[in-house]
Amino acid sequence: MQGGYTPTNGQPRQIPIIQSTTFKYDTSDEMAKLFDLESSGHFYSRLQNPICDLVAAKIARLEGGTAGMLTSSGQSTSFFALFNLCQAGDHIVSPSSIYDGTYNLISVTMAKMEIAATFVSPDQELDAVFQPNTKAVFGETIANPALTVLSIARFADAAHRHGVPLIVDNTFATPVNCRPIHRGADIVIHSTTKYIDGHGGTVGDAIGDGGKFDWMAHADKFPGLTTPDESYHGITYTERFGLGSAFITKATAQLMRDLGCSQSPISAYMINLGLESLHMRMARHCENGQAVTEFLAGHPKVAYVDYCSLPGDPYHALASKYLPNGSCGVVGFGVQDGREEAKAFMGHLKMAAIETHVADARTCCLHPASTTHRQMNNDQPAAAGVKPEMVRMSCGLEGKADLIADIAQALDKI
Ligand SMILES: *Cc1c(COP(=O)(O)O)cnc(C)c1O
Repeated sequence: MQGGYTPTNGQPRQIPIIQSTTFKYDTSDEMAKLFDLESSGHFYSRLQNPICDLVAAKIARLEGGTAGMLTSSGQSTSFFALFNLCQAGDHIVSPSSIYDGTYNLISVTMAKMEIAATFVSPDQELDAVFQPNTKAVFGETIANPALTVLSIARFADAAHRHGVPLIVDNTFATPVNCRPIHRGADIVIHSTTKYIDGHGGTVGDAIGDGGKFDWMAHADKFPGLTTPDESYHGITYTERFGLGSAFITKATAQLMRDLGCSQSPISAYMINLGLESLHMRMARHCENGQAVTEFLAGHPKVAYVDYCSLPGDPYHALASKYLPNGSCGVVGFGVQDGREEAKAFMGHLKMAAIETHVADARTCCLHPASTTHRQMNNDQPAAAGVKPEMVRMSCGLEGKADLIADIAQALDKI
């Protein structure tokens, strides 16, 4: 919780916001060293800013990683994590039940860059889907909104057998409930917009590198890391920065330089505030998620409940292994009789608001089939784990009795 920033005598106790685009140097030669990555420091906030670096370091430390960076949103981070390894002609493996924004990013936008993907079902045998040009395996610890749990060890083992890293989106579990790097993942990403900020106030993201994946052992697959970068005076990232920070340095020096999805200092400050209470809030989100699920599971107007911490859930065994202290506050459930009843139920809720958001301090809910998954067609929503009658409810920090009373009165009205 206190990682990242350690004030010395007389320094501010809270992390200082350095709201400055640029930094002053006495000589051009000193600045040249920064441009050459020969000394560390700041020169322009599109690339690096002191508070963003400190908050990224805190997240990397919470995850057990060696280096980290913030970006302006979860979407940019998913792209950075993958594009730092892939180029036109390459291939990615991912479960189909991932966040719809990431699914679109990979299947539509990255496809336009000629980066292909194979989407697998969570339980599928993996070896057969790898190709010589596969560069990364991607997955979500707890998928949004399908709430499937990733078998991190199985995906990591398959990735490593084929010489590529496993990237895990740990947004829903947070490092409080799961640390994927300790379970075999190589790179962890977060939409800090969700539980880490936790108050519906700040869009953002972070990448943490576990520093374990041996890029040099698979040097032919990752030339961007293992051969000279001509756009950086011939630096070879693995040689200069080692396994611990080659990945993040390349993502900062190259992708942030060219694409510029940098986080703002004030947003980094907000994210840090969230991090300081994350462990307390996660416990409460999980307690509420569990109580709401138990109530829903016994209700005659509820067809099914998806919550991996509930015994009997298909992902309960994986949750017991990877999420022994709780999963998250997001619950999925089917309203009996279908799509229209699900929407009617939501309309009757008084406390839980209808929002395109999760992981807020205030309870919110969404009908994925008519919103986030509306643009999908044919079999795509089912492959993403979305059914017409499904409601995704993100249990906030309110009292659980109030929350259950609100759900009960709304179910009574349909
Ligand atoms: C919300 C979300 C994202 C995207 O994050 P943004 O900050 O909204 O860009 C990525 N992955 C998961 C699991 C999410 O829930």
